[in-house]
Amino acid sequence: MSTTGNSQNLATRDNQVIWHPYTQMKTAALPVPIVRGEGALLYDERGKEYIDAVASWWVNLHGHSHPHIAKKVSEQLQTLEHVIFAGFTHQPAVELAEGLLRILPEGQSRVFYSDNGSTAVEVALKMAIQYWANQGTPKRKIIAFRDSYHGDTFGAMSVSSRSAFTAPFWSYLFEVAFIDVPIPGNENETIVQLEAHAASGDIAAFIYEPLVLGTAGMVMYEPAVLDNLLTICQQHDILTIADEVMTGFGRTGKLFASHYLQQKPDMVCLSKGLTGGTMALGVTTCSNRIYEAFLANDKSKTLFHGHSYTANPVACAAGIASLELTTSPETEQRIAHIAARHQAFATELAPLPGIKEVRQRGTIIAIEFADESTSYFSNLRDTFYNYALEQGVILRPLGNIIYIIPPYCITDEQLAKVYQTIKGMQQLVSNN
Ligand SMILES: *Cc1c(COP(=O)(O)O)cnc(C)c1O
Repeated sequence: MSTTGNSQNLATRDNQVIWHPYTQMKTAALPVPIVRGEGALLYDERGKEYIDAVASWWVNLHGHSHPHIAKKVSEQLQTLEHVIFAGFTHQPAVELAEGLLRILPEGQSRVFYSDNGSTAVEVALKMAIQYWANQGTPKRKIIAFRDSYHGDTFGAMSVSSRSAFTAPFWSYLFEVAFIDVPIPGNENETIVQLEAHAASGDIAAFIYEPLVLGTAGMVMYEPAVLDNLLTICQQHDILTIADEVMTGFGRTGKLFASHYLQQKPDMVCLSKGLTGGTMALGVTTCSNRIYEAFLANDKSKTLFHGHSYTANPVACAAGIASLELTTSPETEQRIAHIAARHQAFATELAPLPGIKEVRQRGTIIAIEFADESTSYFSNLRDTFYNYALEQGVILRPLGNIIYIIPPYCITDEQLAKVYQTIKGMQQLVSNN
């Protein structure tokens, strides 16, 4: 069978063999075939360019096909592509772990590798539950934010919002003590809810998206209240898991959202930006206290978890290359610059008709449009999505919420075009 020179175009061929993520295949438009990427731009088959304003599902940090990452990946590929990670190790895994521990919140001391954000969360949950079991004091429950998103595997779904996305599986998900997101004005209610659950004494861990809940619609809350929540957890001996899968690597203006806090987590989950958006890789880090609870002559206390591609050397090489770029002064300046431009745009947009709220932290900005239907299934969503695509901008609304999470290399001109597209949406709704 020939794979080239097919008379049908790629989208039609795709439509015959592929099942896309988060896509209603019956009604979805044909996918746009992308043939090339450079900087913040993607190019389709006909040469049309698109600004990747959502960093390809929040993973891309430094632009597409970045030459530095490409070089490191290619060198690694020709040296060692993969090796079993039980009983063996390699330079990229060790070097990336050392590099991460150098910049992660204080107190993290061990790196456990997996493949994606959901598995990073699964590993953290298993570490937390087994931590207590290993000491002969099992604790059953996990606390999470009601609107959170931690991934699509069963454990990750369990600690995520009980939304329409997970409805068919609700009866299979383990029970979780949910507390409200402490958005401004709501802080005390959340603290009271946490204290009530904590008093039960049966809580293994609290998992949270620090400062920004991505999938919930870039819902934001302040560091001070999170510090309060983490202090309560410490007082009740509840382990804390910072899910920095989306917020990590500069997204919120600091290298990690946890850097805004006084209190430090026991565990951290990373993925998305970890390789700069090049390869699938996940990381769960933990403090010595967690790690030491698994050290024993009794083999049953081992963390029996691993994936075939654990610590894949090529992915780790991409991680090292991306980290070099992320920690450079140029990137730090870019992040501050994008944050400042977002702030100015927020000020300009917030008072306009049709806009309910504008939220911003670091390189993340979210514009919530006033609309009776705040659902992901709202028609406004499709209208906005198609409008942006026509303009050559990739924006993937969460219901009536438009957000920008750009690659840090986005130019001023490109950013201006993204803002202009959002203003076009504002005019669409206010003219109706
Ligand atoms: C995307 C995301 C995940 C899941 O990561 P995947 O790599 O998509 O499995 C987990 N937590 C948060 C906060 C995320 O944004």
